[in-house]
Amino acid sequence: MCGIVGFAGTRQAAPILLDGLEKLEYRGYDSAGLAIEGDGEILVKKQKGRLRVLREATHNGEDLPGVVGIGHTRWATHGEPSDVNSHPHLSYNGEVCIVHNGIIENYIELRNFLISKGYEFASDTDTEVISQLMDYYYHGDPTEAVEQARSHLMGSYALGILFRQTPDRIYAICKDNPLIIGIGEGENFMASDVTAILKYTRRVFRLSEGELAVLTRDGVTVTDSYGEPIEKEITNVTWDENAAEKGGYEHFMIKEILEQPEVIRKTASPRIVNGTINLSLKSISDEDIRGIDKIYIVACGSAYHVGCVAKPILSKLCRLPVFVELASEFKYSDPMVDNKTLTIVISQSGETLDTYHALKEAASRGSRIISVVNVVGSTIAMVSEDVLFTWAGPEIAVATTKAYSAQLIVMYMLAMYMGRVRGVATEADEKELIRQLEALPDAVEAILEKKEQVQYLASLFYSSKDIFFLGRNIDYALALEGSLKLKEISYIHSEAYAAGELKHGTISLIEQGSLVVALCTYKPLKEKLVSNIKEVVARGAVVIALANEGDTNIEAVADHVIELPEWEELTMPSLAIIPLQLFAYYVASLKGCDIDKPRNLAKSVTVE
Ligand code: GLU
Repeated sequence: MCGIVGFAGTRQAAPILLDGLEKLEYRGYDSAGLAIEGDGEILVKKQKGRLRVLREATHNGEDLPGVVGIGHTRWATHGEPSDVNSHPHLSYNGEVCIVHNGIIENYIELRNFLISKGYEFASDTDTEVISQLMDYYYHGDPTEAVEQARSHLMGSYALGILFRQTPDRIYAICKDNPLIIGIGEGENFMASDVTAILKYTRRVFRLSEGELAVLTRDGVTVTDSYGEPIEKEITNVTWDENAAEKGGYEHFMIKEILEQPEVIRKTASPRIVNGTINLSLKSISDEDIRGIDKIYIVACGSAYHVGCVAKPILSKLCRLPVFVELASEFKYSDPMVDNKTLTIVISQSGETLDTYHALKEAASRGSRIISVVNVVGSTIAMVSEDVLFTWAGPEIAVATTKAYSAQLIVMYMLAMYMGRVRGVATEADEKELIRQLEALPDAVEAILEKKEQVQYLASLFYSSKDIFFLGRNIDYALALEGSLKLKEISYIHSEAYAAGELKHGTISLIEQGSLVVALCTYKPLKEKLVSNIKEVVARGAVVIALANEGDTNIEAVADHVIELPEWEELTMPSLAIIPLQLFAYYVASLKGCDIDKPRNLAKSVTVE
């Protein structure tokens, strides 16, 4: 959500900042802006709308001379998306300029205080209080001003700060929002995530709460909250820069869907050691696993749906009660969590603020924590002793596909690992899961090769007003994700229902021509689903069924069947999700939607 970049070097800053912001576009935004240290003043150019508008207005940045600057893509939280509310925000006298990611919770109080001191405000944002407050405390020493202001800020922030009188440097601080510093040759960078600066440097570190970084072209200094200099450990990022490029595909989403066989391989194979599953947990011993009496899975959006798939698997393999909770609700629910609870948090970005808060809540009650995260070095990864990384590589499309698939793999493996330790799952069960994991990439590939069939079905139904997804048990968990995917990117209204629940109310929505996508892969309840399909067909619905090949019972009741291979129940979700992702993609594509950056959505949701 929102993106920050900063550059201090000898080259013109604005084109580099625009380039970095472009890489952060995937995070979601509604306006963009730049601030450059000019000759005696800070030059600001900002406006509502896409980055391309800012690019055109500044002739690719060339109109803004200067070698030190900051840039921002805003995802509005306080004040509508507009030119004046866009960042950067200058203090009223032009002395201090900032870009901000996050929310200042006590901004009204600070604003009233500053107004009482004669300050005037131009925008409706919470952010503007920060530049004004820093100006209020500025008496010639920027560090002092930043620290004084910081002590009054409540909420979350990552900040890039310019002072007019020190034009060779950028100041940076953060709390609960990520800020990466990149070390180059004679130039230095900051950004919300590494993709923005990968083209220029791979040597990075992450700023922590309480620290202050000062970037010039000659170097970066970091001080702790006592003002003492500290050495940060520099990491070498190994991500391939091309992984964050479209590589000839029309959208990142289809590229990422097609990468899934490889992602599954990369996530599973390092954890299969000598024919057994090895998760290399650091802080959680076998004894701890045996002592656990319940499991919470806490996540948001698609990651929550991964939890819904994992729930019956974990509960079966570990014989434990498993609760799946929305992170935004969990924290405020006085959860029944203690030191015998395992809390599994799932987040692609590792920055999802709701999930991070839920993690802290569970940990404060003594729960053991395992995090399932894609981004190495992210906030959730940093605060968790035990992280199971999903090796999906950078995921740029806002609607997740490959990270979802990688999360499923981790959850199967975690469930089996714990089941073995607890003596519920057998050695034969483990061998069987490994066999399936090794065969999955080819099976996914085979489904992807038949993507034109899904594309054809999308062409029949892309003008639908409502689409319903039905399933039972794990198929219901998948239906939730199929429906979300479609809503996110095609803007078609869609609902997922547990098929048996339909008759208890929602069947009233079904009318002549309603499209129903029925998931029929969960064998134990297939007969029940056939009945549910008949119920909607009798009320005029058109049905696309997802079923195993040669399933004549389903063929007999559905209008269209997408065939999936015969497969074992445990890892079937990894196959069944693929046509649902493709369906959402092709429908959105036929509707001409902005697939990689759907309206109002952000990739990494760093506000509550
Ligand atoms: N709360 C700030 C605003 O609404 C920053 C939002 C963001 O992180 O982009 O301007």
